[in-house]
Amino acid sequence: MYDLVVVGAGPAGSTAARTAAGMGLKVAILEKKDFPRYKACGGALSERAASCLGFRLPESLCERSITGARIHFRDQVLDKIKGYRFTTLVSRSAFDQYLLQKAVEAGASISFSRVLDYSDKGDYLSIHTEGEIYKSRFLVIASGCQNALKDRIAGKASRDDIGICLVTEVKAEDRDIEARLGSFLDIHFGIASGGYGWIFPHRGYYSVGIGGLASRLLHPRQIMRSFLSENGFGRDQIIHGHTIPLGGMVGRVARGRVLLAGDSAGLVDGFTGEGIYYALRSGEMAARAIGEEEEGDVARSYEMRCKKELGEDLRYSLLLSHAMHSHPEAFSWLLERHNEVIDRYIEIPAARMSYKEFMRWLAFRLPRGLLTCTENK
Ligand SMILES: Cc1cc2nc3c(=O)[nH]c(=O)nc-3n(C[C@H](O)[C@H](O)[C@H](O)COP(=O)(O)OP(=O)(O)OC[C@H]3O[C@@H](n4cnc5c(N)ncnc54)[C@H](O)[C@@H]3O)c2cc1C
Repeated sequence: MYDLVVVGAGPAGSTAARTAAGMGLKVAILEKKDFPRYKACGGALSERAASCLGFRLPESLCERSITGARIHFRDQVLDKIKGYRFTTLVSRSAFDQYLLQKAVEAGASISFSRVLDYSDKGDYLSIHTEGEIYKSRFLVIASGCQNALKDRIAGKASRDDIGICLVTEVKAEDRDIEARLGSFLDIHFGIASGGYGWIFPHRGYYSVGIGGLASRLLHPRQIMRSFLSENGFGRDQIIHGHTIPLGGMVGRVARGRVLLAGDSAGLVDGFTGEGIYYALRSGEMAARAIGEEEEGDVARSYEMRCKKELGEDLRYSLLLSHAMHSHPEAFSWLLERHNEVIDRYIEIPAARMSYKEFMRWLAFRLPRGLLTCTENK
């Protein structure tokens, strides 16, 4: 009998497992893929995410420190240099492997097998993998957003709440990457409906990708291939596709003995698609609720923690995304007149400003009523 079984060894699952094991709970992680595994991702670890890891990331995992952003919006290109690092680029296979290792060092066990189903037996849960049955007091589902296990708690997401992302890694010499982007993130708005394209300068490769709302992003592979060739990359790269939740915390994130964390709980920034921060935070909060609360209060306590600590950011990120993509002309105007808007926005991933503070600042600079009328839609 375990205290906690965690499904998925991404950032949410490994963090839940490490935190719970560190609190003295008996924890098993069940992961369907052998590690280290490839994970489709831009690999941008914001400072706010890095600051909740609970340990210093080894230098060998930091592929590049990001101190600037190049933003393409319609016919404008704006470079913003901050005097400090606001993001670190990591390779997800190495990063996730390291987080898993940390969880195991804290005392969690890992088994590489796919979870097929679970059932509630009253006093405990029965969790079924391909070959075994695990018994546990609690279950954290951190298996991402493409997995149906979470649907029994959260319900099935609507197409309007799902984003599609395509990504490829384009090999390049480090000196060419340095000359082209150095320590800049390259972001292209307007190429994918309800989203953007990116070129991130990793070590020995660029992460190139596009992402947008599934309901509006028709022909994503075509858009991706055009984005690659317009930016001087070959069109014949291996392209990986993956979905992300873009609807905010719409459904339940816990019920009884089952808690959802990370992408499974729908916790991704609706404007940037940043999910690692929310995965780390929610994984830790899930473990703390299990370790600190009376059994009957765990689900309610976790839902309240998520709403209190993450709900506001998620709501504002969605509002910003809707406002920008519904009124691109207003944002074009804004960038021309107040290009410090990018400077300000970067302070959110840098953990120097909250979404709320940013939106308050923005509200006085956007055309009157634009945020309110977007919110009321
Ligand atoms: C193309 C793309 C680019 C992105 N870029 C960024 C970025 O630059 N920065 C950022 O912050 N966020 C980014 N995101 C979002 C980020 O990747 C996710 O939010 C984050 O990985 C969520 O972590 P997680 O632990 O919830 O889930 P995941 O990282 O998806 O991990 C889930 C794990 O569960 C396992 N699993 C699934 N089903 C089962 C099962 N039945 N049994 C056992 N194991 C199972 C999977 O194999 C996987 O290892 C990006 C997403 C995409 C798709």
